[in-house]
Amino acid sequence: MSEKSFATLDDLFAHGDITGKRVLMRADLNVPVRDGAVSDATRIERVVPTIRELTGKGAIVILLSHFGRPKGERNLEFSLKAVAPAVADQSGLEVTFADDCVGDAASSVIASAKPGSVVLLENTRFHKGETNNDGAFADQLAAVGDAYVNDAFSAAHRAHASTQAIAKRLPAYAGRAMEAELTALEGALAKPEKPVVAIVGGAKISTKLDLLGNLVSRVDYLVIGGGMANTFLAAQGIDVKKSLCEHDLGDTAREILAKAEAAGCQVLLPRDVVVAQEFKAMAPCKTVPATEVPDGHMILDVGSDTIADLAARFEAAKTVVWNGPLGAFEIAPFDNGTNAAARHVAMLTKMGELNSVAGGGDTVAALNNAGAADDFSYVSTAGGAFLEWLEGKTLPGVDALSRS
Ligand code: AMP
Repeated sequence: MSEKSFATLDDLFAHGDITGKRVLMRADLNVPVRDGAVSDATRIERVVPTIRELTGKGAIVILLSHFGRPKGERNLEFSLKAVAPAVADQSGLEVTFADDCVGDAASSVIASAKPGSVVLLENTRFHKGETNNDGAFADQLAAVGDAYVNDAFSAAHRAHASTQAIAKRLPAYAGRAMEAELTALEGALAKPEKPVVAIVGGAKISTKLDLLGNLVSRVDYLVIGGGMANTFLAAQGIDVKKSLCEHDLGDTAREILAKAEAAGCQVLLPRDVVVAQEFKAMAPCKTVPATEVPDGHMILDVGSDTIADLAARFEAAKTVVWNGPLGAFEIAPFDNGTNAAARHVAMLTKMGELNSVAGGGDTVAALNNAGAADDFSYVSTAGGAFLEWLEGKTLPGVDALSRS
């Protein structure tokens, strides 16, 4: 048995030989398809180790996934058939496609599948019962399997039949990708080594209120950057001039600062900032104190003194959690603050000094732009599920795998 708070493949294997057992495996095969072929196989690559481990032990792996938003109707524009060849290519295994995820179409293909082979079932969202988390639909899904494995963290924030209700009907386990994600996330916020520094950037605070509210009660330092820092600066009476700023959220920003203070979390706002008159390539820019943004200018990045402050925080930290860029990173040189901070965190991680976990929205693109993503302890590509986890929410698909 594993020591984790959720059941893993090791628990499945501990129950005995799985040769010939039918393992229903929830994957996220919602991959981009162009001209009938998969154009980015990253999500498939992530679930291949689990598929291969299960088939290697003789299981029949039956893949379940959603694909696009067919809204409960059978619509072949959203058929998973186009994805089957890419699953076969990536896994090196034979993959048989079944025209439906329930009923005779599914059970007849599964009945003739050999131990160690893979069946891909048609889009779960062709049935309304999927998004309604319908019990009768989950019964139908569960009827063709002996065990359930969820390897789709990116779909775990949804309470759907293939992520939640099914897990109540079969012995349920986390796949290897899910296990890696949950282990990284638990290490970063649930049981982190302290001090913990959270970096939250991006455009606006309005989309990240729950996230900020949760983090201030959990971390030792909260670094706020990006456009959202402007709202906090303005809430403290600083004139941010032409900068992106949610002036109507001044009270909210002050409440977050008060909550942080009460929780003993130190909030770090930019001390100096890079400003320009326009957000475009080659726009003349300069670094000024955050309190002295010139007329007609906008804040587009954090300045060098702020970068130095952050470096000192990172040196003293044991854990870093990161969501959102520190500046308008799409156009150089406004990616400088994000790049410098990301490279520093990556270097400390590589040296074994830090556990670093990042994800959500533009963060993956920003860290890739900095050439730093590979050296972080874990970069989540899960988007919405990662953000909900940062917000402290219980993810239904994860909860369903919990031992308690
Ligand atoms: P989000 O999706 O909320 O993480 O926000 C990411 C976006 O925030 C990126 O497109 C950045 O260009 C933008 N951003 C970051 N800093 C600033 C800033 N100071 N002014 C305007 N936009 C910014």
